[in-house]
Amino acid sequence: MIRRWCEAMGEENPLYVDAAAAAAQGFAAPVSPPAMLEVWTMARFRDTGRTAEDSMPVLNLFDEAGYTGVVATNIEQEYDRYLVEGDRISYTAVVDEVSPEKRTGLGIGHFVTIRYEFTDQNGDPVGRTLLRVLKFKPNLAQPAAASLSSAAEFSHPRPAITHDNAHYWEGISRRELLIQQCASCGQMRHPPGPGCPKCRSLEWHAVKASGRAKLHSFVVVHQPRIPSLQYPLPVLLVELEEGVRLIANGVGLPEKDIVVDMPLRLDWVEIEPGYVLPAFRAPDGEA
Ligand code: ZN
Repeated sequence: MIRRWCEAMGEENPLYVDAAAAAAQGFAAPVSPPAMLEVWTMARFRDTGRTAEDSMPVLNLFDEAGYTGVVATNIEQEYDRYLVEGDRISYTAVVDEVSPEKRTGLGIGHFVTIRYEFTDQNGDPVGRTLLRVLKFKPNLAQPAAASLSSAAEFSHPRPAITHDNAHYWEGISRRELLIQQCASCGQMRHPPGPGCPKCRSLEWHAVKASGRAKLHSFVVVHQPRIPSLQYPLPVLLVELEEGVRLIANGVGLPEKDIVVDMPLRLDWVEIEPGYVLPAFRAPDGEA
């Protein structure tokens, strides 16, 4: 999770991912980036899952009074020490302050400051966060957002390639659709990820998909429109015969011909020179 966070944030400090760099600074192992403090309290890292307290029920009082909009306005954090593998973090949250009613560009509302106190498995404080949100009555007379410019200014959206999905996109560039299979329990999985959702093993290998599939479900997108794509845009949820599902476009599949459970075959579409994506079509002449 630290590696994924660093990739998403563009954080390149080796202290967070490299054992030798951590050892050089006196740590037994890579440490957590301090700004990940809240991450370790999220449901997937706890035994109890998400609880009612997480949703700050006091904020519902603002909704009931018509202040249904919410926007975070600023956040301050303090860290007492680096968090390391094995720490178990929990928090308490209290509403610290509510401002008088203010008139803002979004509408009238109250600034609400929430204070989070984070503690470790020994009950010792490890950090705190002050989060200020504006709960406001949405101003319905706002002008429409500026419309997107012409298609010529936009190229087709590109995937975000990370350490954990690079193998998948390298396969795509060779016109091979690769599925991850857990080396420990054999579970197939997609989209690509570092660990097995069934047994949590980090060991895996890639299996090349046969390309035989069927349509599990689909939607036809009309809005919002990205200038480089064609609308109406069918988006398919395809079930591969290997047992995993992926989202893909169709090729040669007008909306009227799309039926749930129809057989599909893998094909490839060259979006721009050298940029290929998997897509699915009806099988040729097969039942
Ligand atoms: Zn497994």
